[in-house]
Amino acid sequence: MIQSSFRFAVIGAGLAGLTAAAELSARGVYVDVFEKSRGVGGRMATRRSGMSPDASLAASRAPIWQCDHGAPAFAAATASFRAEVARWEKLDLAARWRPTGTANELWVGTQTMTAPARSLAASLPRAIYSSTTIDTLQREHQAWRLHSAEAGWHPEQFDGVILALPAPQASRLLSTITGAESPEQSIASHAKRAMEIAHAIPMSGTWAVIARFESRVEVTEDLLELSDSPLALAVREASKPARPADEVWLLHASDAWSDAHIEAQSDRVADTLLAEFREISAATASAFQVHRWRYAHAKRRAVQPVTEPLSQTHSYWDAEIGLGMCGDWLSMQHKAVPGGVEAAWLSGMDISRRVTDEVSI
Ligand SMILES: Cc1cc2nc3c(=O)[nH]c(=O)nc-3n(C[C@H](O)[C@H](O)[C@H](O)COP(=O)(O)OP(=O)(O)OC[C@H]3O[C@@H](n4cnc5c(N)ncnc54)[C@H](O)[C@@H]3O)c2cc1C
Repeated sequence: MIQSSFRFAVIGAGLAGLTAAAELSARGVYVDVFEKSRGVGGRMATRRSGMSPDASLAASRAPIWQCDHGAPAFAAATASFRAEVARWEKLDLAARWRPTGTANELWVGTQTMTAPARSLAASLPRAIYSSTTIDTLQREHQAWRLHSAEAGWHPEQFDGVILALPAPQASRLLSTITGAESPEQSIASHAKRAMEIAHAIPMSGTWAVIARFESRVEVTEDLLELSDSPLALAVREASKPARPADEVWLLHASDAWSDAHIEAQSDRVADTLLAEFREISAATASAFQVHRWRYAHAKRRAVQPVTEPLSQTHSYWDAEIGLGMCGDWLSMQHKAVPGGVEAAWLSGMDISRRVTDEVSI
C-alpha cells in the first residue's frame, strides 16, 4: 500500500508525465514534476504571437495569431481514451475538428493544443519545477537524487523516478545514472536494462513551418496530406474550433525529408516547404516561423528488446529500484494503440497503475 509519505519525481511535463503525476497524486503519492521548458504540454504545443499593439485588443489579450506547431490534432481509438476525451470535451479542454480534406475523426485542444496538459498541471497539489533540465540521476541508499543544469542538485530525495521523455532523451539521462542500491548490488545493471529499451525505439524528427498569409488561401481542403513531397501535411489553423480567424497554415515536412535535413538551416527549410505549398495553393506567405522537432514521432519496433515484452505493456517499471518510464513511444509498441497523443495518455495511466499496484513500502 502506498503511503502518503512516498515521494516520486516525474521528469517531463508532456501529456504522459502529467497524466502519471496527476494519477499518482490522486492516489496519495507526493509528486514533483520537472520540466525543461517554461510551459507544459511538450509536443502538444501552441505558439502564439505577441499581443496586439492595438490598445483595445491588447486589453482583451487577444493573440494576433496562433498555431499548433507540434501535434496538429489527435485521434481516439481505444475505449478508455475516448472516455477521457469525452471528459475533456465536457470541460471545454478539447473539441471535435472537422476539417475538409479528411474523413477521420479528429480532436484538438481548446483553445490551444496545450489545454489538456495545462488543466492536468493545474490539478497537481505542487507547482511544477519549470525551466529545469534534469541532466544527471543518482541512486544512493535507496533514494534518487536529481541534478539540473539550471539549479544544481535538487535538495529533496525521491523513492521513485519516472522518465516521461522521448526515448533518445530518456536513454541519454539513463546513461548518467550512478550509485549503488546496496553494498552488493550495482545500479548499473538496472540502468542498462532500461537503456536497452529506450535505445531500441527510434524516433524521427519533423521540421515545422508556421506560415501567415494576408488573405484566405484558396484551396478547398483545410487539411492536406501529401506523399512524394518534402511537405507531408498542411493545416489551416482557422478551421479548428475556437481559433483566431487569421490565415495561418502549419506546414510539416515528411519524416524522411526531416531526418535527411535535420541539421539544415531553418531558412533553407522554410524556402523548401513554402515553395511546395505555393505549388499547391499559389499563395505567398507574408511571414513565417520555423521550428525543429528533433524527436517528433516514435516508430514501431519490429524486433522487441528481449528484456521486456513491449508489445504487451504501455510503460516500463523496475520496482526494485523505483525507476519508471512512460511516453508515446512505449505505448505505441502495443498492437491496439495507433500512437501519438493517445499513446502518451495510455502510457501515463499505465505507469501510475503499475507503481501503485506493485510498490509496497
Ligand atoms: C510535428 C509533430 C506532429 C505530430 N502529429 C501528431 C498527430 O497528428 N497525432 C497525434 O496523436 N500525435 C501527434 N504527434 C505526437 C504527440 O504530440 C506526442 O505523441 C505526445 O504529445 C507525446 O507526449 P509525451 O508526454 O509522451 O512526450 P512529450 O510531449 O515529448 O513530453 C516530454 C517532455 O519532457 C521534457 N523534457 C525533455 N527532456 C527533459 C529533461 N532532461 N528534463 C526535464 N524535462 C525534459 C520536454 O520539454 C517535454 O515537455 C506529433 C508530434 C509532433 C512533434
